[in-house]
Amino acid sequence: MTTLTTAPAPAPVAAPAPVAAPAPVAAPAPVAAPVHDVAPVLPVVGADTLVPLVDGRQVPYANLDVAASAPALEAVADRVTRVLPLYASVHRGAGYLSQVSTALYETARRTIGAFVGARDDDLTIVTRNTTDSLNLLAGCVPADPVTGEPGRVLVLDIEHHANLLPWQRVTDATVVTGGPSVAATLAEIEGELAAGVADGRPYALLALTGASNVTGEALPVADVVAAAHGAGARVVLDGAQLVPHRRFSLADTGVDYVAFSGHKTYAPFGAGALVGRRDWLDVGTPYLAGGGAVRRVRTTRTEWHEGPARHEAGSPNVVGAVALAAACDELAALDPRVAGEHEDALRRRLVDGLGALDRVEVVHVWDDAVDPVGVVTFTVSGYDPGLVAAYLSAEHGIGVRDGRFCAHPLLGRLGFDAGAVRASVGLGTAGEEVERLVAAVRSLVDEGPQARYDVVDGLWVVVDDPRPVPAGSGLEGLLATAALGADEAFGCLPDDL
Ligand code: PLP
Repeated sequence: MTTLTTAPAPAPVAAPAPVAAPAPVAAPAPVAAPVHDVAPVLPVVGADTLVPLVDGRQVPYANLDVAASAPALEAVADRVTRVLPLYASVHRGAGYLSQVSTALYETARRTIGAFVGARDDDLTIVTRNTTDSLNLLAGCVPADPVTGEPGRVLVLDIEHHANLLPWQRVTDATVVTGGPSVAATLAEIEGELAAGVADGRPYALLALTGASNVTGEALPVADVVAAAHGAGARVVLDGAQLVPHRRFSLADTGVDYVAFSGHKTYAPFGAGALVGRRDWLDVGTPYLAGGGAVRRVRTTRTEWHEGPARHEAGSPNVVGAVALAAACDELAALDPRVAGEHEDALRRRLVDGLGALDRVEVVHVWDDAVDPVGVVTFTVSGYDPGLVAAYLSAEHGIGVRDGRFCAHPLLGRLGFDAGAVRASVGLGTAGEEVERLVAAVRSLVDEGPQARYDVVDGLWVVVDDPRPVPAGSGLEGLLATAALGADEAFGCLPDDL
């Protein structure tokens, strides 16, 4: 039997390779020089506060925990001081000062909205903080018009819990795992949005951070908005870490809603804001039930207001709103280039200075993120993050944050389930404070801590901490239970951090 075989096809002749221009060799990014001489951009209250060290010395507090809560700008504190004598009830009094306070509150609302580029028809709702704002919006996401099921919301796994849990509790939330690069993550989002449309269950909303509270990184807003709007979804930005650090405009970006906090925007007086499209907010479930949110109440039926009042039941926080508006005025008057360059110089020094140390790893979400804000998270191998933070405070007077930063899914995905240490800077940060941190971590790596530390109730504390409570401040009575460190006065649910 003859077996027919086919002659092997001649091997394709490879086309001659085009003569390629030599690939440009990317110049290595210059290593950031020390920043001893970089001065704060704006004065903040308490910049020269002294704190005790375990060796008995006192040093100026280096507040490198600005991402958690930023100190008040001096201009904010000044405005609050000037407004307090005018303080009276808002929206509730016929007295002269009530009218003044109401006018101050409503003017503050306009300033806050304008600061984030509110469109003519947008609402500005004064809330307590970002968490409050996002919970409020979650209650306003429309249900599916066909099934009546809760509206669908798409979230990334890099989010702060404040931009994760409200959606999971109230809406039909899907959490997408981010990819290793910005481009891959955008592709994940686009794919999920498209799948929603194809399934006939489109997303109503995409909820995304404007800047990660773990690394300062963010996705490009223009691409996110284009993808979401292309699939019929709105976009809410968690602006907690964005608004204090970058000029942001709803009108310019097309973002539908932004949420942010006064206490992160140099105005720690208990107010935050949700700003954005009116229609959902005008018909959504009133956030709080109570006085001020209603037009008419009968025992069996209530007519709710539309507009901001619908979601602002109870006496408004006029001091908080005025303080936040004062901060907005100050930030709006700043040259954004000056603010950006200051923060960028400090951030690059932190990344390069810490990254150059043995055993120190700096955390990134993506390799290709651009323009991160001033938040740098790191670990020191061999040392628990809580110990590093306790050491920085006790031996160097430096305040940082440790833990999982209310971003458990992200820390878990990146392999930092045991937590990390976060340093963050702002307009009131001096380069010298950054240098102190780099030097202190270097000394930890080279020599180890000098004091003895132990874990008490889940928190790292100095054994027999000799540091006194602040003396002469007139607050001694209020601090009576604060034997620094171990006492429950400062113990705050370590598992959740
Ligand atoms: N979102 C981000 C990115 C944050 O960093 C934070 C706080 O750290 C929040 C939301 C929650 O902000 P707040 O505690 O002011 O509600």
